[in-house]
Amino acid sequence: MEFLELAKVCDKVSRTRKRNEKIKIIAEFLSKLQPEEIAPSTLLITGKVFSDLEQKPLEIGYVTLSKALNAAKQGTLFQRKLSILDVKKAFEEIANASGKSSRTKKESILKSLLSNSSELERKYIIKNIFGEMQHGVGEGLLLQAIAYAINSSEEEVRRAYMFLGDVGETAKVALTGGVKAIREVNLELFRPVKPMLAEMTYDFEEPLREHGGKTAVEVKFDGARVQVHKKGNKTRIYSRRLSDVTESLPDVVEEVRGELRAEEAVLDGEVIAVGSEGKPLPFQELMRRFGRIREVQKKIKEIKLKLYVFDILYLNGKVLVDEPYENRTSKLYDIVGNISTAPRIIATNVDEIKNFFEKAIKEGHEGVMAKALRSNYIPGSREKKWFKIKSADTLDLVIVGADWGYGRRTGWLSDYYLAALDEEKNQFEIVGKTFKGLTDEEFKQMTKRLQELKIRETEHTVFVRPEIVVEVAYSEIQRSPTYSSGYALRFARITRIREDKNAYDITTIKEIKRRYLEQFKYKGRIE
Ligand code: AMP
Repeated sequence: MEFLELAKVCDKVSRTRKRNEKIKIIAEFLSKLQPEEIAPSTLLITGKVFSDLEQKPLEIGYVTLSKALNAAKQGTLFQRKLSILDVKKAFEEIANASGKSSRTKKESILKSLLSNSSELERKYIIKNIFGEMQHGVGEGLLLQAIAYAINSSEEEVRRAYMFLGDVGETAKVALTGGVKAIREVNLELFRPVKPMLAEMTYDFEEPLREHGGKTAVEVKFDGARVQVHKKGNKTRIYSRRLSDVTESLPDVVEEVRGELRAEEAVLDGEVIAVGSEGKPLPFQELMRRFGRIREVQKKIKEIKLKLYVFDILYLNGKVLVDEPYENRTSKLYDIVGNISTAPRIIATNVDEIKNFFEKAIKEGHEGVMAKALRSNYIPGSREKKWFKIKSADTLDLVIVGADWGYGRRTGWLSDYYLAALDEEKNQFEIVGKTFKGLTDEEFKQMTKRLQELKIRETEHTVFVRPEIVVEVAYSEIQRSPTYSSGYALRFARITRIREDKNAYDITTIKEIKRRYLEQFKYKGRIE
């Protein structure tokens, strides 16, 4: 099918605010596609280009784009009509271009793509490059559209999506195999699923209230999430972003191989960096090892890692996600050998949780998790079945722009515009600005990275593709008349760069609103 049809669909959905209409338009479009067009089209509609599993950065900077755009405008070719697969292929080639002349290669592929496209097509190609479609279609809406197209329920499609980890693939399975195929999707070895997440709470009583008077409290480690897949002698480890990080963790693989008493298993856990006395090291130290492929052996000596496991999703041919946490963890304890499990207590009152929390903080951990004993495991979901209680108030935000610094910071992009995710609109909304928290070296590196992500600029400001996620501490959330999000952080400060998270993994506007309202539990309010 022609790419123009996809661009028209994007344009059509951007013109209606009615969710149901958007769903119908997309469902109708998906139903008309050839099997091989379904996954790429679904991703192009959401502005993602590649799935989370593929994760290839396009690395098209502002300069490359404007050069290609100018050249294309001067010499529009219209030699042939662009198909959806042509666009997908061009993006693949752009992402794969590497080496010395990669910039020139990328520019020429982009130029030819843009020269062959009409005004409307260009608009949506560029929106895909910028990573924001601004037509209000997020993953949630797409899943509903898929369900509508095959006459299935959103719940069923969501379940398949949770195992496939990608909307494109989910759409393909649904539209080629129908309801039957969607129902058959299940967890498979060596196909990672998104990890289950937790809701934040400040109230030690909330987990007890929500979990029926009894909750499992585990140490919350300040590390990186890992999912370990094992079958016989084969072990692979995946990150929270589902990339394969096995090569950088040979010591962890070794431990799993030697200790795990199961032929086949999928485990959920966290890897942390530890110092000489076994105490947790700051997250930054871990990032010097995690995901690294070069000089692994040297780094292994410098930074010791420790694996803690806390859940099991699959054991010897059986998917365990629908079993309660209690049963899953007891199965886990049976097979881990000497691999450490997350220290935990089963708490029935607030004091027990508080004491365990304080102990965890003293031992250098981030806080605690409180998990409902009877809860199932829902990949990718963030619900009250799991709570996290941390010592500091932080948000994960994405940088969408930066101002050039002055004085000592001249030459650096050092004042960052921080955005949260509006899930409803599938859009990033600014909630604050900060120049605090980074070291000089980090400012320099950040300046370089942001320039590569630049999508437009003014005299003082560079706007970027939302890609770099940072953890931000703040003192208060206020209402803001300036930012379109309606909220602004007071005394925001970057506490770390979250290489392990992507832009769709960040704090939502809904969560910011919840925290804003929560403040009034302790403060007065002028109505
Ligand atoms: P956050 O990154 O603040 O959203 O917190 C959720 C993260 O905490 C998870 O993705 C894990 O990487 C991490 N975590 C640390 N300890 C645990 C634990 N015991 N159970 C579950 N997640 C944990």
